[in-house]
Amino acid sequence: MTQVARCRVYKFGGASIQDADAIRRLSALLADERERPRALVVSAMGKTTNALEALLAAARRDDQADYRRWLAAIRDDHLAVAEDLFGPDSPVADALEQRLAELDAAHAAYREAPYPFHYDQTVGMGELLSTTLLSAWLNASGIPTRWCDARSLIITDDRHQAAEIDWAATHERIASLAAECDELLLTQGFIGATPGGAMTTLGREGSDFSAAILAEALGAEALTVWKDVPGLFNADPRRFPNARQIRQISYAEALEQTWHGAKVIHPRTLAPLQRAGIPLTVRSFLEPEAPPSTIGPAPGDGDRRPALILRDDQVLLEVSPREAGFIEAGLMAEALAALAEQGLNANLLEMEAQRLRLVVDHKGERLAPLLARLGACGAVTHREGLSLLTVRHPGEALMPALDAGRRALVERSTPATAQRLYPAAECPERWTIPGF
Ligand code: ADP
Ligand code: ASP
Ligand code: MG
Repeated sequence: MTQVARCRVYKFGGASIQDADAIRRLSALLADERERPRALVVSAMGKTTNALEALLAAARRDDQADYRRWLAAIRDDHLAVAEDLFGPDSPVADALEQRLAELDAAHAAYREAPYPFHYDQTVGMGELLSTTLLSAWLNASGIPTRWCDARSLIITDDRHQAAEIDWAATHERIASLAAECDELLLTQGFIGATPGGAMTTLGREGSDFSAAILAEALGAEALTVWKDVPGLFNADPRRFPNARQIRQISYAEALEQTWHGAKVIHPRTLAPLQRAGIPLTVRSFLEPEAPPSTIGPAPGDGDRRPALILRDDQVLLEVSPREAGFIEAGLMAEALAALAEQGLNANLLEMEAQRLRLVVDHKGERLAPLLARLGACGAVTHREGLSLLTVRHPGEALMPALDAGRRALVERSTPATAQRLYPAAECPERWTIPGF
């Protein structure tokens, strides 16, 4: 018999619920687990969040036909899964239709509102749809589940698209829910709400962070994130065929790697876990028996081994003083403020007397205002189509192997981290690096 022996939180991402078979596999996985978790945090189905972003873009440019196409695609995807799981005309289909009607109404109501606010009211709907489906399925499969609205649990400020958590209010809401309910809690990742009830989002890929918030508030003993890979690797195994799995890594090293762009876990996930000393286990929903990777207080093989992190779609910005002179603190402060205004980080920062070089993610509509603002600080040039490779713990043989036959536009090295900025064309789709 399953029992709740320890308080554990599970997080399931979009790939683990991408279709009806995946949802069946998820419920079978929960039924097989010897101990049932206390809470599940779930993302939007498959690529729904991308579809919602496309729907929003159509809405903002008032392209009704494209907007309707995206709405129909999202509706069809969810209703097809509902029909596969529950048969035709189920109450779940009605519940989904109701949410889709809310989404449509939100579009009509918020079209003139500021973009970040409109974004959150629209794009956060993916998690509301997926959890509506999943909770009905788990209840129908003999896994009693309480659907909980993350908008009444995760309380945030009103910085839409990148909301900050009100930790005290959030912990209090979660603790009081847990005190009155013994069932398995099922809630949405990625979303929260302001005290006034407006939906907010925590940043793309933010469901891992939601799960960590819940784990901390529940005093969980462990958080498990279920992925389509067996665990954490020392590079993205899709891109680097000779990547190897890491068994154990410290919070500090995992933060370095995720901050530099290792996409497997959102970097904001780690702080609440580290604060509360909760280990994070990465497991495969495709192979639940495979040995996992653990992030925790103790260092392990992942703290010593070289690790590669590749960020595609980078832009190099170069700022120079207009007059003969050099880069002064004032110019640097202005340049970094310009980045912050666009919600961008410097993924690499390097300077000489007369040239400040910054590498940022290419975020479509943010580039033009950024260039305009930097142009007010000095003379600016930019170059797109670049990839930034970060190497943690570069061994003696690895950097020469990388540098052979490839010319970096910018390089930076410290004993623990080396970075190379390459034209994207120099970085193979399947990249096997000798000596890695
Ligand atoms: P989720 O479904 O929870 O959002 P993600 O798709 O964000 O999961 O993360 C899993 C993916 O992360 C894998 O499919 C893998 O290609 C990619 N990935 C990138 N870097 C790493 C890494 N260092 N270790 C493992 N997977 C990685
Ligand atoms: N659904 C959101 C996204 O795709 C959040 C997440 O999955 O983590 O970004
Ligand atoms: Mg993710």
